[in-house]
Amino acid sequence: MELRICHLYPDLLNLYGDRGNVTTLVRRAQWRGISVRVIEARLDDPVDPDASDLFFIGGGEDRQQRLAAPDLRGVKGPALREAAAAGAAILAVCGGYQLLGHYYRPAGGPDLMGLGVLDLHTVHPGPGSRRIIGNIVVREAGAGRILVGFENHGGRTYLGSGARPIGTAIVGSGNNGQDRGEGAVWRSVYGTYLHGPLLPKNPWLADELTAAALRRRYGNTAGEVALAPLPDVEEHRAAAAAAGRAGARGLSWPAAHAQTPERPA
Ligand code: GLN
Repeated sequence: MELRICHLYPDLLNLYGDRGNVTTLVRRAQWRGISVRVIEARLDDPVDPDASDLFFIGGGEDRQQRLAAPDLRGVKGPALREAAAAGAAILAVCGGYQLLGHYYRPAGGPDLMGLGVLDLHTVHPGPGSRRIIGNIVVREAGAGRILVGFENHGGRTYLGSGARPIGTAIVGSGNNGQDRGEGAVWRSVYGTYLHGPLLPKNPWLADELTAAALRRRYGNTAGEVALAPLPDVEEHRAAAAAAGRAGARGLSWPAAHAQTPERPA
C-alpha cells in the first residue's frame, strides 16, 4: 500500500510546527512498512483529486490566510471538494481550519470566502478583543479519546448542522469559548484549532486519518484496512505530560502494545 499525502501551502501556512503533522503521518506509515508519497501544493499549483488521499493544511495569521483563501477556493477548490466527497481525508489546523468553512470574517477588511467543505463560519470579534491562547485538552465525542495541543486564535468558529465537533474542551476554549466544542468533522474531513504540532502527541488521530486515506484507495468491500498497532510509549507519555501541564487530571492513555516489535529508528 502507498499513503498519498498532499501538503497544501507548506511555505505559507505552517505555524507552531504544523509541518510536524506531515512528518508524523509519514513516519507512522513507514514504521508499518507502508510506502508514502508527499506532494506539496503551493499557491497556483492545481490539485489532482485522485492523486492524493490525505490532504493537510496548517495554520497562519490573517495575512497568510488572505493570500491562500482565493487560491484554495478557486485553483484547488473543485478538486478538494471532489476528493472529500469521495472519502479522502483532510486535516486542517487553525487558519487552515477557518478556511475550510463558509467564510472567515476578520477584525478588519472584507470576509475571506472559504472552501465550504465544513459547515461552519468564523468571526473575529474585532480589534482589542481577547485572543484565545493556551494549552488545550479535548475529550473526543463518542469514544472519549483525548487530544492535547495549544490554541492561539482570535476568530470564533460556529458550526452548522452539517458538521459535528471533534469533541469537548475540558481545558481551554476550542471553537468559540462558548459551547466548549472543539474542531469539526464531516466524513473524513477534520478541522481543529490544535497546534503543537497536533499529531505526534495524538497518534490515534494520525491513525484515523491514515486509515481513512488507505480505505479510499485499498478498502475491501466492507471498507476496512488494518493498521498494525505501534507501541506509542513516548507518544502517550508526551500526551500525558501535556495534559498534566494544562491542568487536566485523571486522564489515562491506552497501554503500550506489548507484542509489537521495537519499531525501526
Ligand atoms: N486568523 C486566525 C485567527 O487569529 C488564525 C490564527 C492562527 O492560525 N493561529 O483567528
